[in-house]
Amino acid sequence: MSRPRQFHWKGKRVPFVTPWTGEQTQPGMVVRRIGRGGVQGIGYADEASHVDRRYGALWVRRAAVRGLGEPDFDAVHPYRQRQAIAHMLCQVCGASTHDRPDERHLFLKYTPDGQQITEGERTARPPVCEPCAVESVGACPFLRRGYTAALVGYARTWGVAGLVHDPVTLVPVDPEGEPTPVELDDPLIRWTLAGATVVTLHGCTPVNLDDLAAKAAA
Ligand SMILES: [Zn+2]
Repeated sequence: MSRPRQFHWKGKRVPFVTPWTGEQTQPGMVVRRIGRGGVQGIGYADEASHVDRRYGALWVRRAAVRGLGEPDFDAVHPYRQRQAIAHMLCQVCGASTHDRPDERHLFLKYTPDGQQITEGERTARPPVCEPCAVESVGACPFLRRGYTAALVGYARTWGVAGLVHDPVTLVPVDPEGEPTPVELDDPLIRWTLAGATVVTLHGCTPVNLDDLAAKAAA
């Protein structure tokens, strides 16, 4: 199974979706855009449709040069998150997770209280392959505090998460706030500067990673 080049920082593998400080956010001039049927929303003055717009939303612009500067483990790169979710790539190594015989995908969730992944649950975290899952629960300080895992039949695109803009002033309603989840058919999606794709998880079966690892080793 081919996978993209792996990057390391201070002896630690840097996940595929992790942005680097050298991958700068590139502010575009946000303008009012009137689309088909007179539908209004935000757009860039110099918008390029194939990267700047997806699912009806305008997307944050960010350079894509892995390995430049230092990794920012607390953030997620908008394009690589979008790519990983759309193609079910492992969020750590970037390889396809379409290689399981049961045709399902492994998802991990940080849950200090041990809560399971539930049917129809929303997430912006891409799947993870089995070897990376085992590595992550040992290496990631968040996951070490508690996680659950599930095998998922399919992930359906639900919408995006981003900053909703005011239709009058064209500036973010809550610039410092958490990204707002906005559903595909919500008119607000045209006023959202998206930074991630949100999916819902279906056909979920909780799994124990130790069992999976033991089975793989057998
Ligand atoms: Zn992986």
